[in-house]
Amino acid sequence: MAPRKLAAGNWKMNGNLAALAEIDVLVAAYPAPGCEILICPPALLIHPAKARADDVIAIGGQDCHDQASGAHTGDIAAAQLRDAGATYVILGHSERRAGHGETDATVAAKATAAHAAGLVAIICLGETEAQRDAGETLDVIAAQLHGSIPAGATAANTVIAYEPVWAIGTGRTPTTDQIAEVHALMRDRLEGKVADAAEVRLLYGGSVKPGNASEIFAIPHVDGALVGGASLKAADFEPIIAALA
Ligand code: PGA
Repeated sequence: MAPRKLAAGNWKMNGNLAALAEIDVLVAAYPAPGCEILICPPALLIHPAKARADDVIAIGGQDCHDQASGAHTGDIAAAQLRDAGATYVILGHSERRAGHGETDATVAAKATAAHAAGLVAIICLGETEAQRDAGETLDVIAAQLHGSIPAGATAANTVIAYEPVWAIGTGRTPTTDQIAEVHALMRDRLEGKVADAAEVRLLYGGSVKPGNASEIFAIPHVDGALVGGASLKAADFEPIIAALA
């Protein structure tokens, strides 16, 4: 069976209680969506977002700690995300790798914690512009994939997102050939690491917009998108969902 397509929105540090009205618009537009829809709002908004999502839209976190509980001021445990209504968590986003010093080992440990709490981990990988220019993209992605995906990962509890750092929030995207090359590599490298590798959903992320979504979703091994800026307004996210559904 082909994996179920996923349209995931990453609100990052944007939005407030009033912005949850965007979720109402999506719920009204897609009472029975043909793909899975996920919104990952700031942690404080997870619980009220879940109440608005009406089981039509899944809600996720943007990070979690690798420990189950304890003296970690300011952090959030995976089980607390789950308790608030999240079923997914984004891990290893390049903004966390760069801004919070997260390594592949950090990401793998967090993914293990997410799995233990019953969350699906969306593990993000991506090369910098300098790495692409140096011809290192495939090596970088292969190494990140190897180091960031923990033992126990399955198609049911893990999604991989390819997000070139230079494409995030810039309006620039790789060519379809460049995306295809990386996604084929990721599918290949999942073999041997994950039992049901062919079923693991592989997302593309980085400047996905209504205008480029159809072209990106036609690329082999692209099973959906992780969308930042264009997920903040239902009017922008809807055509992306429609291109996938
Ligand atoms: P963008 O962000 O769609 O705004 O480029 C994507 C992401 O960082 O997940």
